[in-house]
Amino acid sequence: MFKKLMNEILIQFDLKTESPLLVRSSSESSELEPNSARVQYLKTYRVDKESNFKLNPILPGSSIKGVFRSNSERLLGNCCDIVGSKKTNKCLSKVKLEEEKNKKEKNGKQLTGTDIYLMNCAACRLFGNLNLKSRISFKDAYPKEGHEPIMNIRNNVAIDRFTGAAKDAALFDSEVVEDGVFTCEIKLENAAKWHVKLILGIIENINNGFITFGGGSTKGFGKMKVEKFSFLLRRYKNLEREESKFDLDNLKNVLEDINIQDEILKEDESAKEKSEKKEAINFL
Ligand SMILES: [Zn+2]
Repeated sequence: MFKKLMNEILIQFDLKTESPLLVRSSSESSELEPNSARVQYLKTYRVDKESNFKLNPILPGSSIKGVFRSNSERLLGNCCDIVGSKKTNKCLSKVKLEEEKNKKEKNGKQLTGTDIYLMNCAACRLFGNLNLKSRISFKDAYPKEGHEPIMNIRNNVAIDRFTGAAKDAALFDSEVVEDGVFTCEIKLENAAKWHVKLILGIIENINNGFITFGGGSTKGFGKMKVEKFSFLLRRYKNLEREESKFDLDNLKNVLEDINIQDEILKEDESAKEKSEKKEAINFL
């Protein structure tokens, strides 16, 4: 249904740590290295300017996507809860898909891509699921050049609530990014205004400290600030390309009157109409 590329958005920003950041590596440190923390921060090799392979702490795109998805589900309401506590995934119900297919076939029609799109919740329409392609992608975020991250080992001693004594200190030694700036990039294809408004809401929640990254949020870990935000919109029409750039305040002004729920309702109506006429949906 979205074969035609109508617009593309490139959002770039820095995420600066406001408290220790802990993204766990899947491997635990070996017993042979008694001085290293038991919980290691996730690192990956990358070629630097001088063509040297360097081990860098990273903030994986999949983690950033998880943070944006779970908070979108919360902001939108009435969505699947894929990363949250309820773990509901109502959009992927095979029973529902079969029911809709049978209903259509009874009326001599076939289930189209638009029908499937309309069956999905707002979060799945943006972030995708196994049946629906995602419209948003998140790059792995690396430390910003010129901002060498400061690593530290935090001793998060677990206290036995009964005796008040330390349980097993070593188990809770975690390597964290104490101070770091990560460069992030988000891409959107065929975006609607409500997608962008939603992203702005998430950025606001990050800056207010309501959203955290990585582990240890109960200990106050993972608070970050969005800095140096830039937004590039490319529109494609009749083989022509039109570009506009916005900063954060600009973008907030442009989208001030946009109501996300109203826009989703409008999108539903428009998709139903256009699906009858077999036309593409209008976006930004
Ligand atoms: Zn869903």
